[in-house]
Amino acid sequence: MRASGARLTPLRRRVLALVCESHSPVGAYELLARLGGERKARAAPPTIYRALDFFMEHGLIHRINSLNAYVACFGPGRPHDACLFICERCRTVEESDAFGLRRAIDHEAGESGFRVRRQTIEVTGVCRACAARMGESDQRSVKPTR
Ligand SMILES: [Zn+2]
Ligand SMILES: [Zn+2]
Repeated sequence: MRASGARLTPLRRRVLALVCESHSPVGAYELLARLGGERKARAAPPTIYRALDFFMEHGLIHRINSLNAYVACFGPGRPHDACLFICERCRTVEESDAFGLRRAIDHEAGESGFRVRRQTIEVTGVCRACAARMGESDQRSVKPTR
């Protein structure tokens, strides 16, 4: 990451690595617990939140409000709005930039004179893999194949 004045401390580096390693969204306290397990010096919650804010500002992670958790950005590099598809079954998250949606929101906001600062769209449902598994179990109940 290109440094922009702020330092990337070993702790911050570790926080980012933990969020990126996770295949599902992680909460701040989950991060704290993981860090506590591997470090002698325990990190305080404000330190974790500052680290998470720092990475959000730099567009490396997104916060999922409905889950109170964080997920690594799929196209990091610059701050951007995201549309997150969250699977209710396995909690995996897929990200789309959803340009059409953003244009629609900007248009609606413009009509009412509202200034959009940041928008994260959270969509919940069932991912392709889970949908396929659900399909399989349906088939199995009818005609067991393996
Ligand atoms: Zn992103
Ligand atoms: Zn799923």
